[in-house]
Amino acid sequence: MREVEVNGRRYRLPTQPSVVVCVDGCEPDYIAQAVAAGDMPWMKSVLASGSSVVADCVVPTFTNPNNLSIVTGAPPSVHGICGNYLYDVANNVEVMMNDPKWLRAPSVLAALADAGCQVAVVTAKDKLRKLLGHQMRGICFSSEKADQATLAENGIERVVELVGRPVPDVYSADLSEFVFAAGVRLMQTRRPDIMYLSTTDYVQHKHAPGTDGANAFYRMMDRYLAELDALGCAIAVTADHGMNAKTRMDASPDVIYLQDVLDGWLGVGRTRVILPITDPYVVHHGALGSFATVHLPADADVAAVAAQVAALRGVEAVYPRAEAAARFELPADRIGDLVVVSERSAVIGSAAKRHDLSGLDAPLRSHGGVSEQRVPLILNRRIAGLDTGHRWRNFDAFDWVLNRAA
Ligand SMILES: [Zn+2]
Repeated sequence: MREVEVNGRRYRLPTQPSVVVCVDGCEPDYIAQAVAAGDMPWMKSVLASGSSVVADCVVPTFTNPNNLSIVTGAPPSVHGICGNYLYDVANNVEVMMNDPKWLRAPSVLAALADAGCQVAVVTAKDKLRKLLGHQMRGICFSSEKADQATLAENGIERVVELVGRPVPDVYSADLSEFVFAAGVRLMQTRRPDIMYLSTTDYVQHKHAPGTDGANAFYRMMDRYLAELDALGCAIAVTADHGMNAKTRMDASPDVIYLQDVLDGWLGVGRTRVILPITDPYVVHHGALGSFATVHLPADADVAAVAAQVAALRGVEAVYPRAEAAARFELPADRIGDLVVVSERSAVIGSAAKRHDLSGLDAPLRSHGGVSEQRVPLILNRRIAGLDTGHRWRNFDAFDWVLNRAA
């Protein structure tokens, strides 16, 4: 049996076309509600005859750390990507972590390509593409920039013609549909050995499980997954993180403006709150999530500040750097002195004046905390003797589809 070894785990080379799908922001209840409404006939049959568990994603429950965990089969302590942003203490700058130079581990995709497999990756937003496709030979493009794909950069050209749909708006459900449509067309025309599809959580940020807007999205997804199944694919479906309402009763966002609080306690400019959810596409969440890290001055009493922050209403837990790194398997050198997690219904902001919430046209739904750690892990094949009591992770998806799918 031919295998590759990546980050200490072994993976069999695919013997059937194999697909891993990361459904951005897919709280398990989205699937339950859509199945109950009759909107996911394919999923209903897979849940009955395939394999499924509710798994844990990695904390912070954000998009990039989890997508990288899924494709490396490892936590952020191994691959290094623990958010969209980090504070580079040595150079006193906040920098985006979407450049492959921040990656510390190879992906399963790159290893499979090196072993001779045909690999294809389609993401919704372009921000993820370079990280996912790092040092990988094969096809790798985003729906956001599908019209700009070139053979040299993306391993494919004329994507829009292939898919037969226009390039979608970056804030739309269509951006994710394009990913699925492209996946089906690639499987029909090129039949890659392994394919990774990663959507965007635009719909999940706006629509709660069971609502018309959510069910329509899952109905669309189910149709494409059924097509891939009919093409003979083994399909693992998982998510990068869940999603929860983060509002007060009047529908305004329930925000802890942590930078303002710390400025009041310790003085302006003494501490730095980093919100790793921050990215260039903040319209649908206002850069508000349930996870923050805090850099403290050298003379600060870390334990005392931690205790003060932990006592704030809406804060679920505060961990000093080493404890946070151990508990959440994070790279200790890329988080602050404190990691702060808010409760299910609350989010953490920096300073109130730094958040533009004018783009929020629906009550805030977001993620980032431990409360968004539960995600689906589903395979359209039965795994004999599956241990459903085991703590499965979303980054077991490649193990499931390559090692366990009969
Ligand atoms: Zn996400």
